[in-house]
Amino acid sequence: MKRMKNRGQLIVISGPSGCGKGSVIEKLLESTDLNLWLSLSTTSRQIRDNDIPGKTYNFVTKEEFEKKIEEDYFLEYAEYSGNYYGTPKSTIEEKLENGIDVILEIEIQGALKIKEIRKDALFIFILPPSMRELKRRLEGRNTETKEKILKRFKTAYREINEVTKYNYVVINDEMEEASKKINSIIEAEKCRVDRIEETYLNSLEEEIHEILLEDNETI
Ligand code: 5GP
Repeated sequence: MKRMKNRGQLIVISGPSGCGKGSVIEKLLESTDLNLWLSLSTTSRQIRDNDIPGKTYNFVTKEEFEKKIEEDYFLEYAEYSGNYYGTPKSTIEEKLENGIDVILEIEIQGALKIKEIRKDALFIFILPPSMRELKRRLEGRNTETKEKILKRFKTAYREINEVTKYNYVVINDEMEEASKKINSIIEAEKCRVDRIEETYLNSLEEEIHEILLEDNETI
């Protein structure tokens, strides 16, 4: 009996800047058997020392970004800390159709837009073990001025109150543990009754009839 391939799951992961979501997702991608694809965002923010253009983001100017907005290039976009960030529409639908789970690592305004247009998406929020640890992590990145770090820290204050709009919350105390938890959440979501393929249930029913027929029986 041939089983139809399930559609992929759209997974939105958010969390305050500095909570370590980038590393958790990186770990998740390298350690899982799940068929995951991380969407590459476009941004107008300045390139940091540890950024790899085309890998961390597609970097464009503010004007280029605004042109793309007009061209309806984005599934969602938002302004964050004075810069634009957006998820390109292209390829996401194709990946989902092919049974590949798509991860969007985006901030909260963008996540809430996705919630409006994609009711079937899964929303996971990552929190730091404490706010002092979050500040330490932000400072430890050594990539931004004190002023920018403080701005991000203050934004985190607003962000943590949005956690209730998500389906799951994972505290990133230890990166590997957090990534394992996200893996389990994704696996569990795949077993939800509302995700079972109707065609699969039908084929099980058909099979019952076939088997019974071998004994000249019917339901
Ligand atoms: P950073 O400047 O630290 O790389 O990112 C700042 C914030 O923008 C992070 O919370 C990150 O998740 C978010 N972000 C990255 N890409 C996107 C995107 O495509 N759309 C939205 N809405 N947020 C994004």
